[in-house]
Amino acid sequence: MGIRKNIGIVGGGLAGLVSAYLLAKNGHSVQLFEKKNYPFHRVCGEYLSNEVVDFLKRESLFPESLDIPQIDTFEFSDTYGQNVLADLDLGGIGISRFVLDDFLFQKAKAAGATIHTGIQVQEVIFIEGGNSFEVTLADGKTFSFDYVVGAFGKRSRIDSEMGRAFTQKRSPFIGVKYHIRIDRPRNVVALHNFKRGYCGINAVEGDRFNLCYLGRREDLRKYGSIPDMEREILWKNPHLNRIFQEAEFLFDKPEVINEISFEKKSPVEQHILMTGDAAGLITPLNGNGMAMAIHAAYLVAETLDQFDKREEIESNYRKLWKEHFENRLTLGRWLQRLFGSNMTSSFARKLLADYPYFSRKIIQNTHGEPF
Ligand SMILES: Cc1cc2nc3c(=O)[nH]c(=O)nc-3n(C[C@H](O)[C@H](O)[C@H](O)COP(=O)(O)OP(=O)(O)OC[C@H]3O[C@@H](n4cnc5c(N)ncnc54)[C@H](O)[C@@H]3O)c2cc1C
Repeated sequence: MGIRKNIGIVGGGLAGLVSAYLLAKNGHSVQLFEKKNYPFHRVCGEYLSNEVVDFLKRESLFPESLDIPQIDTFEFSDTYGQNVLADLDLGGIGISRFVLDDFLFQKAKAAGATIHTGIQVQEVIFIEGGNSFEVTLADGKTFSFDYVVGAFGKRSRIDSEMGRAFTQKRSPFIGVKYHIRIDRPRNVVALHNFKRGYCGINAVEGDRFNLCYLGRREDLRKYGSIPDMEREILWKNPHLNRIFQEAEFLFDKPEVINEISFEKKSPVEQHILMTGDAAGLITPLNGNGMAMAIHAAYLVAETLDQFDKREEIESNYRKLWKEHFENRLTLGRWLQRLFGSNMTSSFARKLLADYPYFSRKIIQNTHGEPF
């Protein structure tokens, strides 16, 4: 390990909590700021690729005591409801963010990180003369750090404060999530297409399933409410029609987000080391954003641990991030074009059915190697 560093982490999702845990465990002084209070639900399909499971187990960050479903099969249906099943080479597990994030929060605290919850970070400024950061909270308190890890997710007020390029463009997408009870195989992750969107369903711990979809803001505006939009658009796919009619919905109302941008971002901006979605969000159809957030947290923690000069830290992290994630993000953006229309989703289904080797290669390329 290099010099002990004073590190601020903004955002306590997977990227923030895992980097807080690793850095605190290695003796650095770590303070993390999360605007919400654990545990809480968030919009996410909650399919976690096996790419990170060995790492989580090795670091005692895997909640072994839970009944966690193993997922080894992929079901894909086009907008007409014609479907195909495929084996998943790497596979994954289903685990709710309500449980996983809270578990990681407890682990990061136990490793020695100070975690401030229920308070928003208002501004992060790099003071050139002081070679340090000033972090200002919504209540006016300020903190000084040598390094800041940006783990504030796909879009935060900090992005706007920093004038990051992607904030200039409005995103057309909305994300909606429910937990449901339904009689379905627990080893299958399904992606069902509907007009201008797609919906994932997979089991999570206990007897629950996650149902999460990416739709369009314009459709919500057109149909006026989420239930009306679902009836008019999602239910046209017979699989979704059946699921919506048979399932027991366990939330009073769905979790909903907008401003989901898949635009390119940069892993280091204004000297902030960006991790997880703050560095770039992969399209959710890959079921890979959670694994990438955990993997990026590992890379940023390793880099801060091994190097002592700011320029070395930034250039090494930028290089590692690009090596591991840049191509996957590009492929994810390309694949998303095959979803959400009659023609392209039928084409994607035929590709999966008729060219399984080729399709498997594409899926493999959106995933990283276990580490
Ligand atoms: C519809 C949809 C479905 C998805 N499904 C899957 C899936 O099935 N599998 C998968 O692997 N990935 C999926 N993803 C992607 C996955 O959810 C993300 O990649 C992952 O959550 C990234 O983790 P993170 O830690 O970077 O960000 P987040 O988990 O979003 O955490 C960021 C945290 O920062 C906090 N924060 C933000 N601003 C501030 C501030 N100013 N001050 C303090 N705190 C702040 C937020 O409250 C939040 O807790 C999906 C994404 C979407 C949109």
